[in-house]
Amino acid sequence: MDGIGFERVGAMERFDVVVVGAGVFGAWTALHFTRRNNRVLLLDAYGPGNARASSAGESRIIRMGYGEDEIYTRWSQKSLAQWKEFFGFARPGLFRETGVLWLGAEGDARVRDTAATLTRCGVAFEELDRAALQKRYPQICLDGIATGLLEPESGVLMARRAVAAVVEDAIFRGVEYRVAEVVTPDASQGAGTGTLTSVRTRGGEVFEAEHFVFACGAWLGKIFPEVLGERIFPTRQEIYFFGVPAGDLRFSPAALPTFLFQGDETYGMPDLEGRGFKIAFDRHGVRVDPDTQSRIVTEEAAEEVRSYVGRRFPALGGAPIVETRVCQYENTSNGDFLIDRHPTIGNLWFVGGGSGHGFKHGPAVGEYVTRRVLRGTDGEGRFSLQTKEKVQHRAVF
Ligand SMILES: Cc1cc2nc3c(=O)[nH]c(=O)nc-3n(C[C@H](O)[C@H](O)[C@H](O)COP(=O)(O)OP(=O)(O)OC[C@H]3O[C@@H](n4cnc5c(N)ncnc54)[C@H](O)[C@@H]3O)c2cc1C
Repeated sequence: MDGIGFERVGAMERFDVVVVGAGVFGAWTALHFTRRNNRVLLLDAYGPGNARASSAGESRIIRMGYGEDEIYTRWSQKSLAQWKEFFGFARPGLFRETGVLWLGAEGDARVRDTAATLTRCGVAFEELDRAALQKRYPQICLDGIATGLLEPESGVLMARRAVAAVVEDAIFRGVEYRVAEVVTPDASQGAGTGTLTSVRTRGGEVFEAEHFVFACGAWLGKIFPEVLGERIFPTRQEIYFFGVPAGDLRFSPAALPTFLFQGDETYGMPDLEGRGFKIAFDRHGVRVDPDTQSRIVTEEAAEEVRSYVGRRFPALGGAPIVETRVCQYENTSNGDFLIDRHPTIGNLWFVGGGSGHGFKHGPAVGEYVTRRVLRGTDGEGRFSLQTKEKVQHRAVF
């Protein structure tokens, strides 16, 4: 240990759990640990739902449908119940029940598989044929669309504020929270026992704990380059908000649900809180560094989105872009989450790989991590490190 570390040993603080990263995964993990009476320290380099984090957006979709992937449908169900309970009467408006409308071509396999899974899981939904869609949503151009599936009880989480609320509640319940950047842990700690005893911040503070959870989103590969550098793929994603015509209610939540166009690889939502009609492509952008990537949209991408919006939503042709966001997905090779131990440090956990669909699952992720760490319950194979490859072949959406 160097001189600085040695001097600080006397002041070293000990916790049951240190959670690094206060995005949606880390925030809910800290909350679940503290609800189980653990002494928790939550650290974040920039702050909960900060502008560089994947959890930073104004809004994130919460849908139950996942094609055949029943595990994520069940986690969405569990998570929606927890989000609603958490928001309760104290935080109205952080969940907006806009409904989520899936739109697909004739015989779209994903819409069909989603209907089957939702039926098995007891999720309410409505199937709409082309005529019904046309009648109900005349503001959408349905070229190439033959089938729709509406989840009426799903909707939108007001993401950035929701994460801040979870951290605030965790602090209220006793979690200690600090802004600090944690450096890569020294894997040789514990003299070959495979146990980490402490983490250190860039500023030299040292924190001891029984367990360490690294919920660092797109940064996981930067902190653990040897293990995760090639297994987490951070990609640039641009989001656009279009100003709706003055006094026009066709794009309000009462008239337009949150929507997912299967063939177009686009999603969006109605004009919430007057921010504008939101739309984005779900295709993976180029690989980026979450600390330094430009947060300014490119003119080419803006032009592509403008032209798409004009085609699918003709009343918004020529509408101004009133706000933009540039974020990153923190993808695993196929889109399954990564929730597993470090390969050689048994009390260090990786929690991440939200892969563009993780936000909604924050409550279920936190609960799962807490159970695995405290009770040693068996892990779900799909979330294991072993299944994370170095080449991308996206399969979970
Ligand atoms: C454009 C976009 C649209 C999306 N849409 C949806 C959607 O509609 N529905 C949905 O469910 N999901 C969606 N997602 C995915 C979802 O937002 C993410 O999967 C989720 O927010 C990831 O949360 P996280 O906590 O893992 O990571 P993050 O939110 O990135 O949090 C990681 C935190 O770790 C901190 N950190 C990193 N390194 C360190 C360090 N060394 N020391 C201390 N702190 C550190 C960072 O500051 C950050 O706050 C979308 C994502 C994007 C980018």
